[in-house]
Amino acid sequence: MSAALTIDVPTEIATEVVATRRDLHEHPELGFEEHRTAGIVADRLRALGLEVHTGIGQTGVVGVLKGGARARPGKTIMLRADMDGLPIDEENDVPYRSRTPVHMHACGHDGHVAMLLGAARIVMDRRDEVAGTICFLFQPAEEGKGGAKVMVDDGVLERFGIERAYGLHLASAHPAGQVGFREGAFYASSDSIEITVEGKGGHGASPHLSVDPVYVASQFVVAVQQIVSRNIDPIEPAVITIGAIHGGTTHNVIPSRVKLMGTVRAFDADVRAKMAERIERVLRGICESSGATYAFEYLWRYPVTSNDVEQTRYVRALAQRVAGDEHVANVPKLMGAEDFSFFAERVPACFFTIGSNGGPDSSWPHHHARFDIDESALQTGVRMMTALALDAPLHAP
Ligand SMILES: [Zn+2]
Ligand SMILES: [Zn+2]
Repeated sequence: MSAALTIDVPTEIATEVVATRRDLHEHPELGFEEHRTAGIVADRLRALGLEVHTGIGQTGVVGVLKGGARARPGKTIMLRADMDGLPIDEENDVPYRSRTPVHMHACGHDGHVAMLLGAARIVMDRRDEVAGTICFLFQPAEEGKGGAKVMVDDGVLERFGIERAYGLHLASAHPAGQVGFREGAFYASSDSIEITVEGKGGHGASPHLSVDPVYVASQFVVAVQQIVSRNIDPIEPAVITIGAIHGGTTHNVIPSRVKLMGTVRAFDADVRAKMAERIERVLRGICESSGATYAFEYLWRYPVTSNDVEQTRYVRALAQRVAGDEHVANVPKLMGAEDFSFFAERVPACFFTIGSNGGPDSSWPHHHARFDIDESALQTGVRMMTALALDAPLHAP
């Protein structure tokens, strides 16, 4: 292992990071509505003297720092933070509680923005050490709307010549300050299915004169689970969940149609493709045998977030130097999804976690109305992002 890499976070910056996180926590914004947040980000980056680009992928912001005084050559890297909150009513009784009903930073993205801004400040203070080009990238709409894809489609990678991508996520499942890594598939792919089963309505007492879509939909909900248990290699994790089923109005009427919605998760592109095909096949078979018809839509949302092995080994070694071996761990895969995957599909990348669990108040799961973080974790994230900015352009594989 290489020598320790000391990244001091001056008290003033540590205090500012916490204050920024609390301010953003009080003012959460939903996906593609992050106007206040993006404005703060752009103002701060400009004040630091970075070249700032706004409106990329709607509300996305990129701050660019090119080389140091010695203009040392090196790779162009991006460090990513996501900016959006969730439509949740916060139940925490804290001074920085959300001021907007049904808007909440319940995933920790407020911390991600604060940490990356803190890192940018330290990096600017150590500007002479910087090689290559650092893109501080703040993206909109991670929660379900694929803001990363919108930025990629907007050409952000080509526009800045980004060669490597790094991102982090606070994680309430892990102890505060622990830096967590996973080589290869880390977060699952996440897709949606939308189904309408069309039957023939009628009197509840005369099912033989109808085609009952409630009965057909019920058979489908049960049968679709055979895909995971009988069609997918048991070594490969996969999930199908039907999360919504809507049909009918009263006791004695067979409705004409039933609508279903579900989510599909996998860790492998082939498994993902197979699930899409099989789900429709099961639906088709059941509808045909019952005389019903259907409309089926498979919405391809987030691909698997896959960490490049070499990049992950590099960032893991960097974390050992920055945080100490005892604070670095290999962490399990997660069935959740991350749109960082759209960056990782295009350039060698590593996404890692920063544990944020410091006790009962910060142990709630992400997306829970009581979610909160142990703010001591923010320092670890600032140090990791700073270390990547200083080291990766020269030394990343
Ligand atoms: Zn989330
Ligand atoms: Zn998140």
